[in-house]
Amino acid sequence: MKKKCLLHICCAPCATQTIECLNSEYSITGYFYNPNIEPLAEYNLRLDALFKLNSIVNIDLFIGDYDNRYWRKVIKGFENDKEGGKRCELCIDLRLKNAAYFASALKIKYYTTTLSISPYKNYELIKTLGEQYAKEYNIVFIAEDFKKNGGYKKSIELSKKYELYRQKYCGCKIQ
Ligand code: SF4
Repeated sequence: MKKKCLLHICCAPCATQTIECLNSEYSITGYFYNPNIEPLAEYNLRLDALFKLNSIVNIDLFIGDYDNRYWRKVIKGFENDKEGGKRCELCIDLRLKNAAYFASALKIKYYTTTLSISPYKNYELIKTLGEQYAKEYNIVFIAEDFKKNGGYKKSIELSKKYELYRQKYCGCKIQ
């Protein structure tokens, strides 16, 4: 029997290959929680792309709150950091903490995130935070670097195949 896993999804293109990687071993519940995406119209475009992907991959899917005001509070003081700096650390921290909490609330033992498939994200940071919140919520973080073995390239190919919308920037409007 497959193990249950909550997959935090940042966007449909990153979810394509990540789901491929996890599918054989895990029964996946997707969780789209990204209050960092600006503006709201862009958030909706990415959410629609995820619904389109899910009409193909058919996983259980939850959509988190879009509380962009709260996200702005969390990153306050670091708005002018370069991408990859403290602002991104706080942004990733918030999303992983929320995903870990949600997995534990659903009694799902394993969780992970699509974020590591991006070559622009710091894998070691994702792993450290993922494991920290796994400990806090008594669950297990799947510390997989999904960009390995050509994972990022495969995600682009799958996105093209499924004709998914692919955004041109990470998420917030202050990069
Ligand atoms: S660049 Fe991306 S990871 Fe960094 S703060 Fe903005 S949305 Fe978050």
